[in-house]
Amino acid sequence: MPDAPPPLTPLDENWERALCVVAHPDDLEFGAAAAIARWTGQGKQVTYVMVTSGEAGIDGLEPEECRRVREAEQVESARIVGVDTVEFLGFRDGVVEYGVPLRAAIAETVRRHRPEIVITGNFQPTFGGRNLNQADHIAVGRAVLDAVRDAANRWIFPEQLTGDLEKWDGVREVWAAASPLAEHGIDTTDTFEAGVASLQAHAAYIDGLGWDDFDPREMLEGFGRQTGQRMGTAIATSFEVFPMGWGG
Ligand SMILES: [Zn+2]
Repeated sequence: MPDAPPPLTPLDENWERALCVVAHPDDLEFGAAAAIARWTGQGKQVTYVMVTSGEAGIDGLEPEECRRVREAEQVESARIVGVDTVEFLGFRDGVVEYGVPLRAAIAETVRRHRPEIVITGNFQPTFGGRNLNQADHIAVGRAVLDAVRDAANRWIFPEQLTGDLEKWDGVREVWAAASPLAEHGIDTTDTFEAGVASLQAHAAYIDGLGWDDFDPREMLEGFGRQTGQRMGTAIATSFEVFPMGWGG
């Protein structure tokens, strides 16, 4: 018999503000949203930033119309898990490039929102096994790690530091959801249903996938229960943790 996967370490919940930065509408809803519902339920403030509007995500819908539909679905999806602010950075879906313009845009959001925790999606080459990750996810996750450090340095993107905006060196950790290398997790048993509802809010997108028999609840429950076994809870969500700075 193969060895059971190792137990997950509980995530630190001693923080007040988190910023979620992902490539597309729906990226947070394939797992992380139930954890976000838990944290907003504790009174924490969570903000979403979408690097693109996912406008290339529905085969039968022109990007201009698709953008409108997917932004609205994301705003509703966020509302369901207690997130009131969703920003769209307007990078072009499908062709996001790792580089200085992306780092600058993300650093600016970090400086404005001043989070202690930054959450992104998995940016490893795969989701485990041979399930390949997607190019925008990889570019965005790498840029998030760098932009958090950029935001802390007043001499990087100094043109942003006019008016009230200051450098922000208060990010303690970056957490990547759905990573195959996750060693941390959180109990999401009580907020599982909110997570399901937030994925169901992406109705046009899910329809557009054209997957027969796709059931958001069944899929999230499968992942959640598997992760829960490593957490000692019915359902859990896992994250790969990157400490920022030294001695963290
Ligand atoms: Zn995505």
